[in-house]
Amino acid sequence: MRVTTVGVVGAGAMGSGIAALAASAGCRVVLLDIPGDADPASPNRSAPAKNGLAKAAKSKPASFMEAAAVARVRVGNTEDHLEWLAECDWICEAIIELAEPKQQLFARIEALMKPTAIVSSNTSGIPMATLLEGRTEKFRRRFLGTHFFNPPRYMHLLEVIPTPETDPAVIGAMNGFAERTLGKGIVIAKDVPGFIANRLGVYGMVATMRRMEQHGLTIDEVDGLTGSLIGRARSATFRTGDLSGLDVLAHVTKGIGAATGEDFALPGWVLTELVGTGKLGDKTGGGFYSKTKTGTLTFDWKTKSYVPQQRLEGGDIGQAIRLPVPQRLPAIKTLPGAQGAFVRDHVVDVAHYTLTLASELAHDIVAIDRAMEWGYGWEAGPFQVMDALGADWLREQFKAEGLDIPPLLDLVQGSFFRDGEYLTFDGRYEPVPAIPNRLSLASLAKSGRVLEDNGLSRLIDLGDGVACFEFRSKMNSLGQGVLEGLEKSLRKIEKLGFNGLVIGNEDARAFTVGADLSVVSFAVAAGAWADIDQSISGFQNSVMSIRRAPFPVVVAPAGMTLGGGCEFMLHSDTVQAHAESYIGLVEVGVGLLPGGGGTKELLMRFTSELQNYEEVDLFAAVKRAFKLIAFASTSTSAHEARAMGLLRDRDRISMNRDQHLSDAKQRVLDLAPGYLPPAERTVRALGREGLGNLEYALWSAKEAGQASAHDVRVGRAVAYVLCGGDGAPRDVTEQDLLDLEREQFLSLLGTKETQERIAYTLKTGKPLRN
Ligand code: NAD
Repeated sequence: MRVTTVGVVGAGAMGSGIAALAASAGCRVVLLDIPGDADPASPNRSAPAKNGLAKAAKSKPASFMEAAAVARVRVGNTEDHLEWLAECDWICEAIIELAEPKQQLFARIEALMKPTAIVSSNTSGIPMATLLEGRTEKFRRRFLGTHFFNPPRYMHLLEVIPTPETDPAVIGAMNGFAERTLGKGIVIAKDVPGFIANRLGVYGMVATMRRMEQHGLTIDEVDGLTGSLIGRARSATFRTGDLSGLDVLAHVTKGIGAATGEDFALPGWVLTELVGTGKLGDKTGGGFYSKTKTGTLTFDWKTKSYVPQQRLEGGDIGQAIRLPVPQRLPAIKTLPGAQGAFVRDHVVDVAHYTLTLASELAHDIVAIDRAMEWGYGWEAGPFQVMDALGADWLREQFKAEGLDIPPLLDLVQGSFFRDGEYLTFDGRYEPVPAIPNRLSLASLAKSGRVLEDNGLSRLIDLGDGVACFEFRSKMNSLGQGVLEGLEKSLRKIEKLGFNGLVIGNEDARAFTVGADLSVVSFAVAAGAWADIDQSISGFQNSVMSIRRAPFPVVVAPAGMTLGGGCEFMLHSDTVQAHAESYIGLVEVGVGLLPGGGGTKELLMRFTSELQNYEEVDLFAAVKRAFKLIAFASTSTSAHEARAMGLLRDRDRISMNRDQHLSDAKQRVLDLAPGYLPPAERTVRALGREGLGNLEYALWSAKEAGQASAHDVRVGRAVAYVLCGGDGAPRDVTEQDLLDLEREQFLSLLGTKETQERIAYTLKTGKPLRN
C-alpha cells in the first residue's frame, strides 16, 4: 500500500493544514470543501476550498514548506469533483465536527474509493463507531481515526485510532506513511472522548484554573508554576491557551464534558469576560494575556481587568528549573506558601486522573507520555513526572486528599520506567517500544559509545562504522574548542577505518547559530589581528578538511543553520537536512561576509551549474550568490533551501526528526564503497567587469534609500570575492577565493560600523542597521 495521492475533504484550519503538509512532503493532493454557490455554473462553486488553500498559502507560521508545493494541491467541491477522490490512496475527512455530515460523506466516499484506499477521520471526539454507522465491512477494514494537532506542519503528534475492525495492514501502512513521509510521531489511541492528549491536556487546564481560584493565585504565578518547573512546555497553562485559542478550548471542554459526563466546565469568567467578548487569544490579539506597545498585560480574574505582567522568576523556582526533570520535580515538595500548595495540589490532581484513566485511553503508559510530549510539548510525560515525584509520595498525597489509590499505582515496583522498561497495565515490565529508525545520541552516549569528548563537542559511534560529530557549545556556536574537536574526530575516523562521518545533533532549536561572535569581539577589542587572521584560516581549514576527508562526510542540519553552520553544510559530500531547517549565510547582518568558504562555495556551485551551457553569461551565477549573501536570505524550511540553491538535488530531506540521524547515517553507508574525495576546482572569475555591475546595483540601492553606506561597503566586499578581485577576468582556485574571503573579512572587521553591529547583536540578539 503506497500513499502518493492524498484526498482531503474540508478545507478549514485542519484540512488545509493537512493538505499543505502532504503537498510539502511531495504528495499530489486533492482538497475539497462544500460548494460556494448552489448554481453549478457559478464561478464560485469551488470558492471555499480555494479560499482555504489561499489562507494556508499565506498563513504564519507557514503551513507550506515551499511556495511550489501550493501548486500540488488541486481544489474542488464535493458536488462536482468528489470523483477525484477515486484516485486517492489516502482520503482524510476534516469537515465540520458533526456526526451526520461526516456519515453522509463516508457513504459517498465508499461508493467511489479504490479498494486499496485508506479512509480516515480527523474528528476530535466523535466515536469511530458512530462515524461507521451504515458502512460495509469492506469499508470498515479500510477505516481509522487520524487525529492531527494544529498546526499540522509543526505539531509532531498524530494520534491514530484504529477500530477493532481496521485491517492491521491498513494501520501499518498509515503509520508508515505518516511517520516517514509526513514526519509525525505516532501514538495509537483508544476510541474515547478526547483520545489521549486532549483528554489529559484539557483536564489539566481546567484543573489548573480551579486550583488557581482556590489558592487565590494570579495567571502569572500559575504560568510560572505550571511550565518548565513541572516538566511541561514553557508556554505553561495560559500561554498555551492563548496559542490554541480560547474558543477552541471552550468548544473542546464542552465536547469532552458532554461525552464523558465529567465536569470539564471552565470558570465563568473565562467564558463571559474573555470568550464572550471576543478575547480569544493570539488570533484576536489578546486573551489571558494582551500585548500592548508598553508591554504585556495579564488578565486579573479577580478584578476582571488587565494588569501589567509580573513574571514569576528567580528564587527556588529559578534554581530548580535549571535541574534535569528527575531532580527538578522534587523541589515542589517543599515550595512554601500558597504557590507551593497550589503546585502540589495540581500535580496530584493530574497524577490521579492519569493513573485512573490510563488503561481506558491507551494500550500502554509509553503512548500516554509520548502523546503529552509530542502533542502538548511537555518535556516529560505524566508517568516520567510521577517517577520524579515517587510512588510513595503520591500515595501519601492521595491519602491526605481523601482520594482512592488507583490500582495502577499499586502495581509499581519502584518506578513506572526503569532500565529501558515500562510498567504494563497488568503489572509486568516490558521493553519500551522503540521509535522506528530513531538514533538517539543521548542514549548512545549513555551506553558508552562516546569516542571523543572535549566538553564543547563529542564524537559518538552510531554503529556500522559510522560516527556522529556533535556540537555541544552554547546554541552549538562554533569556536576554537569545537573546531579542535572536529580535527581530532576526523583523524580518529581515519585511524579507526570507519566508513564515514555524520555531523549533526538532536538539539531542538539549532544545528548551530554559527561562529562564536563573543570571541571575535573580544579579539578585536584586544587588537589581536594576527590571532584573528589565524582563526579565520583555522575555520577555513576545518571546513576544507570536511571536503577533503578520504571518507564521506554527511552534514545533517535541523533548525537554525546559520553562518558558519551553513558553510559546514556547503562543504559536505551530501546533506541530509531535516525539513524544519532554517539555513542562511547571515554574516552581513553583523557587517561581515561568509569567510569560511561560504562565498567561494556558492560561487563555485552556481557557476558549475551553468558551465555546461555554451555562451552562457556566468554573471548570472555571481548575481545569484551575491543576492543570497547580501540579503542574508534564510530559508524557512529545507525545501525552500533547495529552491534557493543552498541545497542541491542530491541533498535529501528527512521529514521526521526522529529518523533524521539514521537517514544521515544511511547516506554515509551509501557513499562509502569506493569513496573518493571531490577534486579541486577552479572557476572563471569575472574581475573588474562583474564587480562594476554589482557596484552599480549597490549604488542604486543606496540612492533608493534601501542601503546604508556601510551596507554598500559590506556588499562591495562580497562582490569583490565573488568576482575574484577587480583585475582582469582569470581562473581562480578554491584557495584563491578563500584568501580573498579572509582579506575582505578582516578589512570589514576593522571598521567601526561592523564592530558596532557585532556588539549590538551580542547584546540584543538582533541585527543593527547602521
Ligand atoms: P473548520 O471549521 O476550520 O473547517 C471545517 C471545514 O469543513 C469548513 O471549511 C467547512 O466549509 C467544511 N465543511 C463543512 N461541512 C462540510 C461537508 N459536508 N463537506 C465538505 N466540507 C464541509 O474546522 P477545523 O478546525 O478544520 O476542524 C475540522 C475537523 O478536525 C473537525 O472534525 C475537528 O473536530 C477536527 N480537529 C480540529 C482541530 C483544531 O485544532 N481545530 C484539531 C484536531 C481535530
